[in-house]
Amino acid sequence: SGSDGGGGPEVATHCPYCALQCGTVLAGGPGAVAVRPSDFPVNRGGLCRKGWTAPALLDVRDRLREPLVRDADGRLRPVDWATALDTVAERLRRIRAEHGPDAVGVFGGGGLTNEKAYQLGKFARVALGTSQIDYNGRFCMSSAAAAGIAAFGVDRGLPFPVADLGRAEVVLLAGANPAETMPPLMRHLEQARLVVVDPRRTRTAERAAVHLQPAPGTDLALALGLLHLAVVEGRTDSGYLAERTTGLEDAWQLAAGWTPERVERLTGVPVAEQREAVRLLAEAERAYVLTGRGAEQHSKGADTVAAFINLALALGLPGREGSGYGCLTGQGNGQGGREHGQKADQLPGYRSITDPAARAHVAGVWGVAPESLPGPGRSAYELLDALGGDVRALLVFGSNPAVSAPRAAHVTERLAALDLLVVADFVPSETARLADVVLPVTQWAEEEGTLTNLEGRVLRRRRLLGPPPGVRSDLEVLHGLAVRLGQDAERWPTEPERVFAELRRASRGGAADYSGIDYRRLDAGEALHWPCPEPGHPGTPRLFLDRFAHPDGRARFAAVDHRDAAELPGERYPLFGTTGRVLAHYQSGAQTRRIAELAAAVPEPYVEVHPDTAARAGLADGDLAEVGSERGTVTARVRLSGSLRTDTVFLPFHFPGAGRANLVTNPALDPRSRMPEFKVCAVRLSPATES
Ligand code: SF4
Repeated sequence: SGSDGGGGPEVATHCPYCALQCGTVLAGGPGAVAVRPSDFPVNRGGLCRKGWTAPALLDVRDRLREPLVRDADGRLRPVDWATALDTVAERLRRIRAEHGPDAVGVFGGGGLTNEKAYQLGKFARVALGTSQIDYNGRFCMSSAAAAGIAAFGVDRGLPFPVADLGRAEVVLLAGANPAETMPPLMRHLEQARLVVVDPRRTRTAERAAVHLQPAPGTDLALALGLLHLAVVEGRTDSGYLAERTTGLEDAWQLAAGWTPERVERLTGVPVAEQREAVRLLAEAERAYVLTGRGAEQHSKGADTVAAFINLALALGLPGREGSGYGCLTGQGNGQGGREHGQKADQLPGYRSITDPAARAHVAGVWGVAPESLPGPGRSAYELLDALGGDVRALLVFGSNPAVSAPRAAHVTERLAALDLLVVADFVPSETARLADVVLPVTQWAEEEGTLTNLEGRVLRRRRLLGPPPGVRSDLEVLHGLAVRLGQDAERWPTEPERVFAELRRASRGGAADYSGIDYRRLDAGEALHWPCPEPGHPGTPRLFLDRFAHPDGRARFAAVDHRDAAELPGERYPLFGTTGRVLAHYQSGAQTRRIAELAAAVPEPYVEVHPDTAARAGLADGDLAEVGSERGTVTARVRLSGSLRTDTVFLPFHFPGAGRANLVTNPALDPRSRMPEFKVCAVRLSPATES
């Protein structure tokens, strides 16, 4: 298939949505693009309905096609590009002069290509000189990243290829629902017996040999209990523990108290089911423990993931071919997006921004003095919370925080309190509608670049179509702004391949080392998983087979203990509220809600409720309900589900306006990862008052 960026009849690329990055082949031209799945190893000829309908994204009715600037009457008016960029640069200059460089914030996205993510981090640190940059990936996988780095010395979502899962006998999925969120992954799990940890009976849980259904916010205690059982029942791998790990004694100090009976009392998971889960995992020749957002999105998310890693280590799984631990990253470039410097505390190469050697190396590549680089900034929610205070301007690329951030009404208020909000997007998202300046940018099939999927494999995104008239790439936008802010044009290339060449140099020597990867190798079809430190290096599909990335080569158990969610149900708010995704939609829904077939499949917000709970609230299936918390109220239609816990209601988070699930979610942050507690808050359920 063609890879010439638009001249050939067919173009091999990848789905625009999730981290599985299913391989696709595109054909056709403007208004008539056809997609078919390719035989790429992660999807093997499969796609979910989001992938099948992706071409419709290119032709959405309200596609942004010209820059918009808000006029004196408060209306967004079309302007030419020069006017839009001049306006942004001029106002940024004024705000910086008055309030200092940290008064300008940047908010990126886990769907941006590696090249865009890299250039955005550099733009913030060099062109703006601000420390205030973070991105929506903080809401996605930051807890697993923190736990993975602590345990293994490096974080790569899956430290093995997805295809390895196909030979597993048993897979434990903690807070992951791939049957709904990335269905083609289930092809790799067909042979395996599944142990699913989820408060809801999800589509994945329906496939499980054992479904452990803990109360929301208690999965850390459950993981401690499973470790407890593995130890007391003599199911640990003592040779592996002695040779490849440290710290079990300290972890055991805390797990020792979590007897199966105590775990059952707190979590509601019967002792027999706990035992069965451990037995299945321990007796399997090849087994995996995988975590997802359900384990991560807590104010103790990093510790929860660490507890599941402890279990995997006790059973001797990580770093053994055919077994392991991994995190199912969510967003399209959730992996690459976290490696190139969008994160408040990181520089490219997945390096710490406070490490003097990393600062010196990256500053050298950027042609600036190390001491000119700002230090760490605020995490995503903390940055949003500071808007209108000491942060006066925000540039948003590839994100829709008005819908996807917790405590959404407050965040919307903060966005509105800014002196300047600039949003680069290809659709008028809810955040773009609040902006002072909207910049229309390219999308997947209109651009070249790379993404890194959930198995650390670097992939080429290829262009079938040119950008529509009036639309520019994000790299062109950053170039235009950098030059207006006094930067040397040469240092801000707009060709993705040139940006990638610089990214490679910046990553050299870091954990996520891309030095040996280039477009030519990728276009030749090489499967390159980072680290790939030299041009002739074959890449590293499987990490940790000989040693973990800590200096002593050993993995570290984490001494973690259960603690309650920041907010628990009580008299006023007697139920658990929890949030998640559905198959038809992706993240804030800004893209998928615009696609007729997907919108028809799940057209409006709903709240899933157990029939007994609904009856107690005086609600029937299809009634309009209000779900209220300390922070706000969601209005959504009731969907009865007999398999849900009676103490829990579930809200998908893809919808705008009064149906925004995040109106009720709690921004309590994990102290290690700064992840908000999307998965647990206290709510009440009542019939909606007529509007
Ligand atoms: Fe796209 Fe993910 Fe669906 Fe694959 S599973 S088609 S990458 S949304």
